[in-house]
Amino acid sequence: MSPAMTSSNPPPRTIPSGGDNLRRIHRLDAIKALVNTTVNIHPRNVILPRPIDSLRRGEWVKLICGASFEDAADIRNLSLVYTLAGAMNIGSIERPWVMISVNDDKEDLHFRKAEFDPENCPLDCSRPCEKVCPANAILLKKSSTGQHSLGSSDASDRLQGGVVTERCYGCGRCFPVCPFDKIRAKTYIRETAATSELLKRNDVDAIEIHTTGRHIHLFNELWDTLGTSIKHVKLVAVSMPDIGNSTFSTMQDMHTIMESRLLGYNLWQLDGRPMSGDIGRGATREAINFAMRLAAIPDKPHGFYQLAGGTNLHTIDCLKKVGLFKAIKFSGTGGIADSAQALIGGIAYGGYARKIVARVLHKLPTQPGCMLIEDYPEYLMEALREALTLVGPVKSYNMPLSCPQCAQVH
Ligand code: SF4
Ligand code: SF4
Repeated sequence: MSPAMTSSNPPPRTIPSGGDNLRRIHRLDAIKALVNTTVNIHPRNVILPRPIDSLRRGEWVKLICGASFEDAADIRNLSLVYTLAGAMNIGSIERPWVMISVNDDKEDLHFRKAEFDPENCPLDCSRPCEKVCPANAILLKKSSTGQHSLGSSDASDRLQGGVVTERCYGCGRCFPVCPFDKIRAKTYIRETAATSELLKRNDVDAIEIHTTGRHIHLFNELWDTLGTSIKHVKLVAVSMPDIGNSTFSTMQDMHTIMESRLLGYNLWQLDGRPMSGDIGRGATREAINFAMRLAAIPDKPHGFYQLAGGTNLHTIDCLKKVGLFKAIKFSGTGGIADSAQALIGGIAYGGYARKIVARVLHKLPTQPGCMLIEDYPEYLMEALREALTLVGPVKSYNMPLSCPQCAQVH
């Protein structure tokens, strides 16, 4: 199994169902049977790849749960759907790698939350903030004190609710749509000491350092503070946007900083347009341009490369058009010399991946985030088909034409 998942925190150690082990085993068997009989994937290579093999072959998929997204129940359902979509062999599902995120700079867009005081909102506002939020993180309702006097019916009404902090992942979509400029962004830096402790857990496999790339001393400080805890992970990823001429030299400098304590693999996340994966066709262009700039330089930063920041349904087609999807003669990355491997080892899907599956999660009969999706097999399968539209092309699945969503991408 190759997908990795990122989140601010690792998933809970136990499935939040309250069920016993036997119930879980039966549930897993039921999912396998369901997937085997309904999705009918025919992988070209039936050998289960290790995650690093997936990176070498350009078949790595990372589900970005959101560095600031903290709704553990929702993360759990999303992760299950994308784990199944990434399983090359449904009979041998393994736990995907779990990656946790930190940042070195408050300017990083991934570590922010929206906030506003609903009591300051005009009562007649049409609430566009609520409508644009892809995470259902804004909940508002009108309340009344019941002290209306004759002829002043709305004088004591007010809005209640606001941003559900753990569901807001800072996408920024609500900021510009507020006609009264009431929404602010609250940025923060994840506490490094707590992160270091998490890295020592057996169920945390990788870390991702988000950096703006503009303050190398901040990166250096963060790396120093993480100390020897970094030796517990198999993979260190660094996510940064294209900052122009100094991009690749900055990556080289960062690698020099990390080198002495880097025991596992390292991965560069080329963050084309941070936090923009689900807003249309143009969004993927910057990520592709970043990859093309990397492909053109002879002295590439050491490590694997993954695209993010604008990745969506069109990303693989765009990569194919510019000749950057899979097998490229390459030398000297991650300790591998002179091998044919993908320049772009993988794709990280974030907002877009969440959006297409959330369409299904929101159909579940109770509040989103409070139930196990596998308890509703028809919705699990629908969500899985959506997920396969993203994961299938990366892994070159031969998907049957009977699956309408999958057929659209071929
Ligand atoms: S920043 Fe994005 S996720 Fe957060 S409340 Fe606004 S629209 Fe929703
Ligand atoms: S759009 Fe602005 S004013 Fe209207 S409800 Fe949302 S935050 Fe309040």
